[in-house]
Amino acid sequence: MTLQRPDARGRFGTYGGVFAPETLMPALDELERAFEEAWADDGFVGRFHEILSTYVGRPTPLHEAARLSEHLGFRVLLKREDLAHTGAHKINNAIGQALLAQRMGKPRIIAETGAGQHGVATATAAAYLGLECVVYMGAKDMERQRLNVERMRLLGTAVEPVTTGASTLKDAVSAAFRNWVETVETTHYIIGSVVGPHPFPWIVREFQRVIGDEALAQLDELPDLVVACVGGGSNAMGIFHPFADKGLELVGVEAAGLGVDTEHHGASIGAGSPGVLHGSQTYMLQDDDGQVEEAYSISAGLDYPGVGPEHAYFADLGIARYESVTDAEAIEGVKLLCRTEGILPALETAHAIAWLEKAKSDLAGKTVLVNVSGRGDKDVDTILEHL
Ligand SMILES: *Cc1c(COP(=O)(O)O)cnc(C)c1O
Repeated sequence: MTLQRPDARGRFGTYGGVFAPETLMPALDELERAFEEAWADDGFVGRFHEILSTYVGRPTPLHEAARLSEHLGFRVLLKREDLAHTGAHKINNAIGQALLAQRMGKPRIIAETGAGQHGVATATAAAYLGLECVVYMGAKDMERQRLNVERMRLLGTAVEPVTTGASTLKDAVSAAFRNWVETVETTHYIIGSVVGPHPFPWIVREFQRVIGDEALAQLDELPDLVVACVGGGSNAMGIFHPFADKGLELVGVEAAGLGVDTEHHGASIGAGSPGVLHGSQTYMLQDDDGQVEEAYSISAGLDYPGVGPEHAYFADLGIARYESVTDAEAIEGVKLLCRTEGILPALETAHAIAWLEKAKSDLAGKTVLVNVSGRGDKDVDTILEHL
């Protein structure tokens, strides 16, 4: 049996918790109470699902990947989050938290973004609900993801460049937390993955579990494995959670970058160790002195030196296992899905696809459900550079 919600201290086993400045404690308490009430309120849950249906385009299809299955030698089913509005699963959480902000009477939203997908999803939710929105983004990521920066601006969001540290996602998260401390009376911070201090990992998982709940209802029989890529871990936890007590294998695929034995990867579980990052105890990349190390991946969405605390808990208990895939393998994963199914996946998603090819000799005869977390239009320039 898996834990349905974190314990009273906001922990999943020894992971999670609340490591935050005193000034944020009242806001985190308020958020926990507001979410608890909202999630028990049929009116709120109904509104959330109505928006997902009429605006986001849910339920997303479950696609029988016949030609990919033939190529691999086992049955593959694809959950098509790439077909959700704005092109990835991130919109589910953005809509949920924006509704929560509105319910709490907060007119301003902030968010951090790496690939820009969470920024675009949040800017979209803010426009839809008429909320003010500011997105923090590493200056380096702004260069890598110009299209998403312009999309956010068109949606009426202010994009704040972050130039501290490596100017990537980790630094954007820190900048967003700093701003939240100063503006917490009027502002809600929409974290984009199952990370951060309690109650965020729990809230984001609950808003994303619609992926797994839908898949369960769409399947004619249970698969043998469920596979998803893992950055912070929200698309994976969203599809895993409803399957976690079903006795099947859950596989999270992290970014091995240039190799997990190099200094250039994002495998927080596979090659990291427990520590405190962005408000919670979890697996993270750190040096011998406990300093956070830079993550690296070809995909900006997996380029994060930590992972959600519930994944750390799943890893230790063996509820899920975590593998990794290199940049080069991910590029092959893009080509494979394009050519067998006519689907251009995000580079993040391509890690999950590439793992199927790597593990194919062990998977003969099985049925594998894969989460296609997003579409790859945003990555075409990067893919071309590596081909
Ligand atoms: C952001 C993103 C991810 C990684 O984030 P998770 O929280 O691990 O899901 C994966 N795929 C896509 C398409 C993304 O945009």
